Amino acid sequence: MLNETHSPDLRSWIESANVPGIDFPIQNLPHGIFRRRSSAEAFRGGVAIGDQILDLSAALRAGAFTGTVAAAAEMAAAPTLNGLMAMGPTAWSALRLAISRLLREGAPQVEALRDCLVPQADAENALAARIGDYTDFFTSYHHMVNAGRVFQPDNPPLPNFKWLPIGYHGRSSSIDISGTRFRRPLGQSRAPGDATPHFGPTRRLDYEMELGAFIGPGNARGEPIDVNAADRHVFGLCLLNDWSARDVQGWESQPLGPFLAKNFATTISPWVVTLEALEPFRIALAREAADPQPLPNLRHRSDAPPPGFDIELEVWLRTARSEGGEMRLSRSNFRHCHWSLAQMVAHHTEGGCNLRPGDLIGTGTQSGPSEGEQGCLLELSRGGKQPIALPNGESRAFLEDGDVVTLRAWCAREGHPRIGFGTCSGEVLPCNVREGDRLE
Ligand code: CA
Repeated sequence: MLNETHSPDLRSWIESANVPGIDFPIQNLPHGIFRRRSSAEAFRGGVAIGDQILDLSAALRAGAFTGTVAAAAEMAAAPTLNGLMAMGPTAWSALRLAISRLLREGAPQVEALRDCLVPQADAENALAARIGDYTDFFTSYHHMVNAGRVFQPDNPPLPNFKWLPIGYHGRSSSIDISGTRFRRPLGQSRAPGDATPHFGPTRRLDYEMELGAFIGPGNARGEPIDVNAADRHVFGLCLLNDWSARDVQGWESQPLGPFLAKNFATTISPWVVTLEALEPFRIALAREAADPQPLPNLRHRSDAPPPGFDIELEVWLRTARSEGGEMRLSRSNFRHCHWSLAQMVAHHTEGGCNLRPGDLIGTGTQSGPSEGEQGCLLELSRGGKQPIALPNGESRAFLEDGDVVTLRAWCAREGHPRIGFGTCSGEVLPCNVREGDRLE
Protein backbone atom coordinates (compact mmCIF):
# COMPACT_ATOMS: atom_id res chain seq x y z
CA MET A 1 0.00 0.00 0.00
CA LEU A 2 2.92 2.35 0.69
CA ASN A 3 5.07 3.59 -2.19
CA GLU A 4 8.01 5.92 -2.82
CA THR A 5 5.84 9.03 -2.15
CA HIS A 6 5.50 7.95 1.50
CA SER A 7 9.23 7.52 2.10
CA PRO A 8 10.20 9.37 5.30
CA ASP A 9 13.57 10.10 3.72
CA LEU A 10 12.16 12.38 1.01
CA ARG A 11 13.16 16.04 1.25
CA SER A 12 11.93 18.93 -0.86
CA TRP A 13 13.90 21.73 -2.51
CA ILE A 14 11.33 23.99 -0.83
CA GLU A 15 13.06 24.38 2.54
CA SER A 16 9.90 25.12 4.56
CA ALA A 17 8.58 21.66 3.63
CA ASN A 18 11.49 20.04 5.50
CA VAL A 19 10.79 21.72 8.85
CA PRO A 20 9.82 18.97 11.32
CA GLY A 21 6.21 19.18 12.44
CA ILE A 22 4.99 21.29 9.52
CA ASP A 23 1.54 20.37 8.18
CA PHE A 24 2.52 20.04 4.53
CA PRO A 25 5.74 18.06 4.05
CA ILE A 26 6.45 16.44 0.68
CA GLN A 27 4.74 13.24 1.89
CA ASN A 28 1.40 15.11 2.20
CA LEU A 29 0.70 17.06 -1.05
CA PRO A 30 -2.94 18.07 -0.40
CA HIS A 31 -5.02 19.63 -3.17
CA GLY A 32 -6.95 22.89 -2.94
CA ILE A 33 -8.22 25.94 -4.82
CA PHE A 34 -6.55 29.34 -4.43
CA ARG A 35 -5.62 32.71 -5.90
CA ARG A 36 -3.49 35.60 -4.70
CA ARG A 37 -5.40 37.40 -1.94
CA SER A 38 -7.58 40.33 -3.01
CA SER A 39 -6.53 39.88 -6.62
CA ALA A 40 -8.69 39.59 -9.72
CA GLU A 41 -6.95 36.34 -10.61
CA ALA A 42 -9.04 33.31 -11.40
CA PHE A 43 -9.27 30.68 -8.68
CA ARG A 44 -7.28 27.61 -9.70
CA GLY A 45 -5.95 24.38 -8.33
CA GLY A 46 -2.74 24.00 -6.39
CA VAL A 47 -0.90 21.72 -4.02
CA ALA A 48 0.26 22.85 -0.58
CA ILE A 49 3.96 22.26 0.06
CA GLY A 50 5.65 23.68 3.16
CA ASP A 51 4.43 27.28 3.45
CA GLN A 52 3.98 27.55 -0.33
CA ILE A 53 1.45 26.50 -2.97
CA LEU A 54 2.54 24.86 -6.20
CA ASP A 55 0.41 26.62 -8.83
CA LEU A 56 -0.49 23.71 -11.12
CA SER A 57 -1.63 25.96 -13.98
CA ALA A 58 1.75 27.65 -13.97
CA ALA A 59 3.51 24.29 -13.68
CA LEU A 60 1.57 23.00 -16.69
CA ARG A 61 2.60 26.07 -18.71
CA ALA A 62 6.19 25.44 -17.64
CA GLY A 63 5.94 21.96 -19.14
CA ALA A 64 6.28 20.14 -15.82
CA PHE A 65 3.70 17.47 -16.69
CA THR A 66 3.98 15.31 -19.76
CA GLY A 67 2.31 12.13 -20.96
CA THR A 68 -0.84 10.72 -19.45
CA VAL A 69 -0.37 12.48 -16.10
CA ALA A 70 -0.87 15.86 -17.82
CA ALA A 71 -4.62 15.17 -18.07
CA ALA A 72 -4.86 14.70 -14.30
CA ALA A 73 -2.72 17.80 -13.72
CA GLU A 74 -5.10 19.83 -15.88
CA MET A 75 -8.06 18.66 -13.81
CA ALA A 76 -6.12 19.46 -10.63
CA ALA A 77 -5.40 22.97 -11.98
CA ALA A 78 -9.06 23.72 -12.74
CA PRO A 79 -11.22 26.18 -10.70
CA THR A 80 -12.86 23.23 -8.93
CA LEU A 81 -11.56 19.72 -8.33
CA ASN A 82 -14.72 17.86 -9.39
CA GLY A 83 -13.03 16.70 -12.60
CA LEU A 84 -9.99 15.40 -10.73
CA MET A 85 -12.19 13.73 -8.13
CA ALA A 86 -14.09 11.93 -10.90
CA MET A 87 -10.88 10.44 -12.35
CA GLY A 88 -10.31 7.93 -9.55
CA PRO A 89 -7.38 6.61 -7.56
CA THR A 90 -5.17 5.42 -10.42
CA ALA A 91 -5.02 8.94 -11.88
CA TRP A 92 -4.73 10.56 -8.43
CA SER A 93 -1.85 8.30 -7.54
CA ALA A 94 0.01 8.93 -10.82
CA LEU A 95 -0.37 12.69 -10.30
CA ARG A 96 0.85 12.42 -6.69
CA LEU A 97 3.94 10.54 -7.84
CA ALA A 98 4.67 13.13 -10.55
CA ILE A 99 4.27 16.06 -8.12
CA SER A 100 6.37 14.29 -5.48
CA ARG A 101 9.19 13.84 -8.01
CA LEU A 102 8.95 17.49 -9.15
CA LEU A 103 9.24 18.79 -5.60
CA ARG A 104 12.07 16.55 -4.38
CA GLU A 105 15.57 17.77 -3.73
CA GLY A 106 17.59 17.45 -6.91
CA ALA A 107 14.59 17.54 -9.28
CA PRO A 108 15.76 18.77 -12.70
CA GLN A 109 12.85 21.22 -13.06
CA VAL A 110 13.66 23.27 -9.93
CA GLU A 111 14.51 26.53 -11.72
CA ALA A 112 11.38 26.42 -13.91
CA LEU A 113 9.17 25.62 -10.92
CA ARG A 114 10.44 28.35 -8.58
CA ASP A 115 8.22 30.80 -10.49
CA CYS A 116 5.21 28.49 -9.99
CA LEU A 117 5.12 28.96 -6.21
CA VAL A 118 2.72 31.26 -4.34
CA PRO A 119 3.23 31.77 -0.58
CA GLN A 120 0.23 30.49 1.38
CA ALA A 121 0.38 33.72 3.38
CA ASP A 122 -0.37 35.70 0.19
CA ALA A 123 -3.21 33.45 -1.00
CA GLU A 124 -6.91 33.06 -0.38
CA ASN A 125 -8.77 29.80 -0.85
CA ALA A 126 -12.10 28.74 -2.28
CA LEU A 127 -14.04 25.51 -1.77
CA ALA A 128 -12.18 22.58 -3.29
CA ALA A 129 -15.23 21.40 -5.22
CA ARG A 130 -18.66 22.39 -6.39
CA ILE A 131 -20.45 20.46 -3.67
CA GLY A 132 -23.65 19.00 -5.08
CA ASP A 133 -24.82 17.18 -1.99
CA TYR A 134 -23.71 17.20 1.62
CA THR A 135 -24.48 14.43 4.10
CA ASP A 136 -23.66 14.48 7.79
CA PHE A 137 -23.22 11.31 9.81
CA PHE A 138 -23.45 10.48 13.52
CA THR A 139 -20.73 7.90 14.04
CA SER A 140 -19.06 8.62 17.38
CA TYR A 141 -20.30 6.36 20.14
CA HIS A 142 -18.90 8.70 22.78
CA HIS A 143 -20.67 11.70 21.23
CA MET A 144 -23.93 9.78 21.32
CA VAL A 145 -23.47 8.80 24.96
CA ASN A 146 -22.30 12.26 26.13
CA ALA A 147 -24.96 14.18 24.21
CA GLY A 148 -27.64 11.69 25.26
CA ARG A 149 -26.78 12.15 28.96
CA VAL A 150 -27.42 15.89 28.62
CA PHE A 151 -31.06 15.17 27.98
CA GLN A 152 -31.57 12.01 30.06
CA PRO A 153 -29.07 10.94 32.76
CA ASP A 154 -29.73 7.24 32.12
CA ASN A 155 -30.10 7.70 28.39
CA PRO A 156 -29.78 4.28 26.77
CA PRO A 157 -27.66 4.01 23.60
CA LEU A 158 -29.67 4.22 20.40
CA PRO A 159 -30.63 0.67 19.37
CA ASN A 160 -29.54 1.23 15.75
CA PHE A 161 -26.17 2.90 16.47
CA LYS A 162 -23.99 -0.22 16.23
CA TRP A 163 -25.89 -1.59 13.25
CA LEU A 164 -25.69 1.31 10.78
CA PRO A 165 -23.91 4.66 10.39
CA ILE A 166 -26.74 7.10 11.21
CA GLY A 167 -26.88 10.10 8.87
CA TYR A 168 -29.07 12.86 7.48
CA HIS A 169 -28.99 14.99 4.36
CA GLY A 170 -27.41 18.39 5.00
CA ARG A 171 -27.34 21.66 3.12
CA SER A 172 -24.59 22.39 0.56
CA SER A 173 -25.48 26.03 -0.24
CA SER A 174 -24.19 27.29 3.13
CA ILE A 175 -20.85 25.44 3.20
CA ASP A 176 -18.11 28.03 3.74
CA ILE A 177 -14.38 27.98 3.22
CA SER A 178 -12.28 28.48 6.35
CA GLY A 179 -12.02 32.12 7.36
CA THR A 180 -15.64 32.95 6.62
CA ARG A 181 -17.65 34.87 9.22
CA PHE A 182 -21.35 34.24 9.66
CA ARG A 183 -24.15 35.84 11.60
CA ARG A 184 -25.59 34.17 14.66
CA PRO A 185 -28.67 32.46 13.27
CA LEU A 186 -32.27 33.14 14.16
CA GLY A 187 -34.60 30.35 14.99
CA GLN A 188 -37.52 29.03 16.94
CA SER A 189 -36.99 27.23 20.22
CA ARG A 190 -38.90 26.41 23.37
CA ALA A 191 -37.34 26.57 26.79
CA PRO A 192 -38.14 23.77 29.28
CA GLY A 193 -41.38 24.59 31.08
CA ASP A 194 -42.52 27.21 28.58
CA ALA A 195 -45.90 26.71 26.97
CA THR A 196 -45.05 28.50 23.73
CA PRO A 197 -41.90 28.73 21.63
CA HIS A 198 -39.69 31.78 21.28
CA PHE A 199 -38.21 33.27 18.09
CA GLY A 200 -34.90 35.08 18.14
CA PRO A 201 -31.13 34.71 17.84
CA THR A 202 -29.97 31.31 19.06
CA ARG A 203 -28.77 31.31 22.67
CA ARG A 204 -27.03 27.96 22.41
CA LEU A 205 -24.66 28.19 19.45
CA ASP A 206 -22.19 25.33 19.25
CA TYR A 207 -19.48 23.89 17.00
CA GLU A 208 -18.94 20.24 16.05
CA MET A 209 -15.46 18.82 15.48
CA GLU A 210 -15.68 16.65 12.37
CA LEU A 211 -13.78 15.51 9.32
CA GLY A 212 -15.20 16.01 5.83
CA ALA A 213 -14.73 13.45 3.04
CA PHE A 214 -14.91 14.43 -0.63
CA ILE A 215 -16.39 11.76 -2.87
CA GLY A 216 -14.33 10.78 -5.91
CA PRO A 217 -15.96 8.66 -8.62
CA GLY A 218 -19.66 8.31 -7.92
CA ASN A 219 -22.02 5.42 -8.54
CA ALA A 220 -24.98 4.94 -10.82
CA ARG A 221 -28.48 4.99 -9.34
CA GLY A 222 -29.40 1.61 -7.98
CA GLU A 223 -25.82 0.34 -8.03
CA PRO A 224 -24.52 0.46 -4.45
CA ILE A 225 -20.83 0.84 -3.69
CA ASP A 226 -19.32 -2.26 -2.10
CA VAL A 227 -17.88 -1.56 1.35
CA ASN A 228 -14.63 -3.27 0.37
CA ALA A 229 -14.21 -1.00 -2.68
CA ALA A 230 -15.56 2.15 -1.06
CA ASP A 231 -12.18 3.75 -0.26
CA ARG A 232 -11.65 4.06 -4.02
CA HIS A 233 -14.62 6.43 -4.05
CA VAL A 234 -13.13 8.79 -1.43
CA PHE A 235 -10.80 11.46 -2.82
CA GLY A 236 -9.62 12.83 0.48
CA LEU A 237 -10.36 14.47 3.81
CA CYS A 238 -10.61 17.98 5.18
CA LEU A 239 -11.68 19.49 8.51
CA LEU A 240 -15.36 20.25 8.97
CA ASN A 241 -17.16 22.35 11.58
CA ASP A 242 -20.88 21.62 11.67
CA TRP A 243 -22.06 24.72 13.55
CA SER A 244 -25.23 23.92 15.47
CA ALA A 245 -27.95 25.94 17.21
CA ARG A 246 -28.78 23.57 20.08
CA ASP A 247 -31.94 25.34 21.25
CA VAL A 248 -33.38 25.28 17.73
CA GLN A 249 -32.23 21.67 17.29
CA GLY A 250 -33.92 20.54 20.51
CA TRP A 251 -37.29 21.97 19.47
CA GLU A 252 -37.39 21.22 15.75
CA SER A 253 -35.67 17.86 15.43
CA GLN A 254 -38.59 15.52 16.12
CA PRO A 255 -39.51 13.71 13.95
CA LEU A 256 -37.33 14.49 10.89
CA GLY A 257 -33.99 15.55 12.39
CA PRO A 258 -32.08 18.83 12.35
CA PHE A 259 -33.15 21.52 9.88
CA LEU A 260 -32.54 25.23 10.64
CA ALA A 261 -30.34 24.21 13.58
CA LYS A 262 -27.60 23.25 11.14
CA ASN A 263 -28.35 24.70 7.70
CA PHE A 264 -27.05 28.24 8.33
CA ALA A 265 -23.32 27.47 8.11
CA THR A 266 -20.85 24.62 7.78
CA THR A 267 -17.14 25.50 7.55
CA ILE A 268 -14.46 23.35 5.90
CA SER A 269 -10.69 23.67 5.59
CA PRO A 270 -9.20 24.44 2.16
CA TRP A 271 -6.65 21.62 1.71
CA VAL A 272 -7.91 18.14 0.90
CA VAL A 273 -5.53 15.47 2.20
CA THR A 274 -5.76 12.45 -0.08
CA LEU A 275 -6.41 8.98 1.30
CA GLU A 276 -3.12 7.94 -0.28
CA ALA A 277 -1.26 10.44 1.92
CA LEU A 278 -3.06 8.92 4.93
CA GLU A 279 -2.13 5.30 4.11
CA PRO A 280 0.64 5.08 6.77
CA PHE A 281 -1.91 6.03 9.43
CA ARG A 282 -4.51 3.31 8.94
CA ILE A 283 -5.78 1.69 12.10
CA ALA A 284 -8.38 -0.90 13.10
CA LEU A 285 -11.80 0.40 14.08
CA ALA A 286 -12.53 0.77 17.78
CA ARG A 287 -14.67 -2.21 18.73
CA GLU A 288 -15.68 -3.87 21.96
CA ALA A 289 -15.92 -7.63 22.21
CA ALA A 290 -19.67 -7.41 22.76
CA ASP A 291 -20.29 -5.23 19.70
CA PRO A 292 -22.33 -6.93 16.98
CA GLN A 293 -20.71 -7.82 13.69
CA PRO A 294 -22.11 -5.49 11.03
CA LEU A 295 -24.52 -7.05 8.56
CA PRO A 296 -22.71 -8.52 5.53
CA ASN A 297 -23.03 -5.44 3.30
CA LEU A 298 -21.28 -3.28 5.93
CA ARG A 299 -18.62 -5.84 6.85
CA HIS A 300 -14.98 -5.27 5.97
CA ARG A 301 -13.06 -8.27 4.66
CA SER A 302 -10.80 -9.58 7.40
CA ASP A 303 -7.77 -9.53 5.06
CA ALA A 304 -8.35 -5.91 3.97
CA PRO A 305 -6.16 -3.06 5.24
CA PRO A 306 -7.40 -1.58 8.53
CA PRO A 307 -10.33 0.68 7.59
CA GLY A 308 -9.87 3.39 10.24
CA PHE A 309 -7.48 6.34 10.32
CA ASP A 310 -5.43 7.61 13.26
CA ILE A 311 -6.03 11.37 13.04
CA GLU A 312 -5.59 13.72 16.00
CA LEU A 313 -8.26 16.42 16.20
CA GLU A 314 -8.29 19.68 18.16
CA VAL A 315 -10.63 22.61 18.75
CA TRP A 316 -9.26 26.04 19.67
CA LEU A 317 -11.15 29.16 20.70
CA ARG A 318 -10.21 32.83 20.34
CA THR A 319 -12.58 35.29 21.97
CA ALA A 320 -13.08 39.01 21.51
CA ARG A 321 -11.35 39.45 24.88
CA SER A 322 -8.49 36.98 24.47
CA GLU A 323 -6.34 39.49 22.59
CA GLY A 324 -5.63 37.09 19.79
CA GLY A 325 -4.65 34.27 22.12
CA GLU A 326 -6.09 30.85 21.36
CA MET A 327 -7.28 28.43 24.03
CA ARG A 328 -7.67 24.72 23.38
CA LEU A 329 -11.15 23.41 24.15
CA SER A 330 -10.74 19.76 23.27
CA ARG A 331 -8.57 17.15 21.67
CA SER A 332 -9.60 13.73 20.43
CA ASN A 333 -8.84 11.28 17.63
CA PHE A 334 -10.73 9.87 14.66
CA ARG A 335 -9.61 6.40 15.83
CA HIS A 336 -12.53 6.43 18.28
CA CYS A 337 -15.03 6.57 15.40
CA HIS A 338 -17.29 3.53 15.41
CA TRP A 339 -17.76 3.43 11.63
CA SER A 340 -15.23 3.65 8.78
CA LEU A 341 -15.48 6.10 5.90
CA ALA A 342 -15.96 3.09 3.64
CA GLN A 343 -18.94 1.93 5.70
CA MET A 344 -20.47 5.43 5.52
CA VAL A 345 -20.12 5.46 1.72
CA ALA A 346 -21.44 1.91 1.33
CA HIS A 347 -24.38 2.55 3.64
CA HIS A 348 -25.20 5.83 1.88
CA THR A 349 -25.60 4.00 -1.43
CA GLU A 350 -27.04 0.66 -0.34
CA GLY A 351 -30.62 1.76 -0.96
CA GLY A 352 -29.80 2.92 -4.48
CA CYS A 353 -28.75 6.53 -3.82
CA ASN A 354 -26.15 7.84 -6.27
CA LEU A 355 -23.13 9.79 -5.03
CA ARG A 356 -21.39 12.23 -7.36
CA PRO A 357 -17.80 13.53 -7.57
CA GLY A 358 -17.40 16.43 -5.15
CA ASP A 359 -20.21 15.39 -2.83
CA LEU A 360 -19.22 15.98 0.78
CA ILE A 361 -19.67 13.65 3.73
CA GLY A 362 -19.34 14.86 7.31
CA THR A 363 -18.16 12.15 9.70
CA GLY A 364 -20.26 13.45 12.60
CA THR A 365 -18.89 14.97 15.79
CA GLN A 366 -15.81 13.05 16.88
CA SER A 367 -15.59 12.61 20.65
CA GLY A 368 -13.38 10.31 22.67
CA PRO A 369 -13.99 8.37 25.89
CA SER A 370 -12.11 10.72 28.25
CA GLU A 371 -12.64 14.14 29.78
CA GLY A 372 -11.37 16.82 27.39
CA GLU A 373 -12.15 14.67 24.35
CA GLN A 374 -15.70 15.98 23.84
CA GLY A 375 -16.18 17.25 20.30
CA CYS A 376 -18.67 20.05 21.01
CA LEU A 377 -19.69 22.50 23.76
CA LEU A 378 -22.97 20.69 24.39
CA GLU A 379 -20.91 17.81 25.75
CA LEU A 380 -18.17 19.90 27.40
CA SER A 381 -20.63 22.11 29.32
CA ARG A 382 -23.13 19.32 30.04
CA GLY A 383 -25.82 20.99 28.03
CA GLY A 384 -24.86 24.43 29.33
CA LYS A 385 -25.30 23.47 33.00
CA GLN A 386 -21.56 23.53 33.73
CA PRO A 387 -19.89 26.35 31.78
CA ILE A 388 -16.23 25.62 31.14
CA ALA A 389 -13.61 27.95 32.58
CA LEU A 390 -11.23 29.45 30.02
CA PRO A 391 -7.59 30.20 30.91
CA ASN A 392 -8.17 33.95 30.43
CA GLY A 393 -10.86 34.08 33.13
CA GLU A 394 -13.85 33.91 30.82
CA SER A 395 -16.23 30.97 30.71
CA ARG A 396 -18.35 29.40 28.01
CA ALA A 397 -21.49 27.32 28.02
CA PHE A 398 -22.07 28.10 24.33
CA LEU A 399 -20.43 30.41 21.78
CA GLU A 400 -20.61 34.19 22.06
CA ASP A 401 -20.44 36.84 19.36
CA GLY A 402 -16.87 37.50 18.29
CA ASP A 403 -15.75 33.95 19.09
CA VAL A 404 -13.43 32.38 16.51
CA VAL A 405 -13.39 28.58 16.51
CA THR A 406 -10.46 26.84 14.82
CA LEU A 407 -10.16 23.12 14.15
CA ARG A 408 -6.79 21.47 13.59
CA ALA A 409 -5.83 17.90 12.74
CA TRP A 410 -2.75 15.85 12.02
CA CYS A 411 -1.44 12.33 11.81
CA ALA A 412 1.67 11.30 13.71
CA ARG A 413 3.29 7.89 13.81
CA GLU A 414 6.81 6.75 14.62
CA GLY A 415 8.88 6.55 11.45
CA HIS A 416 6.64 8.82 9.36
CA PRO A 417 6.58 12.58 8.93
CA ARG A 418 3.59 14.32 10.44
CA ILE A 419 0.76 14.87 7.94
CA GLY A 420 -1.31 17.96 8.81
CA PHE A 421 -4.65 19.29 7.65
CA GLY A 422 -4.05 23.03 8.12
CA THR A 423 -6.81 24.95 9.89
CA CYS A 424 -10.57 25.38 9.68
CA SER A 425 -11.71 28.68 11.23
CA GLY A 426 -14.98 30.53 11.48
CA GLU A 427 -16.11 33.60 13.38
CA VAL A 428 -19.51 34.25 14.95
CA LEU A 429 -20.87 37.72 14.13
CA PRO A 430 -23.70 39.34 16.05
CA CYS A 431 -27.16 38.65 14.73
CA ASN A 432 -28.59 41.53 12.71
CA VAL A 433 -31.78 41.24 14.70
CA ARG A 434 -31.71 42.16 18.38
CA GLU A 435 -33.30 39.87 20.91
CA GLY A 436 -37.03 40.49 20.82
CA ASP A 437 -37.12 42.54 17.60
CA ARG A 438 -39.34 40.07 15.84
CA LEU A 439 -41.12 38.62 18.80
CA GLU A 440 -44.92 38.56 18.73
CA1 CA B 1 -22.77 17.04 12.82
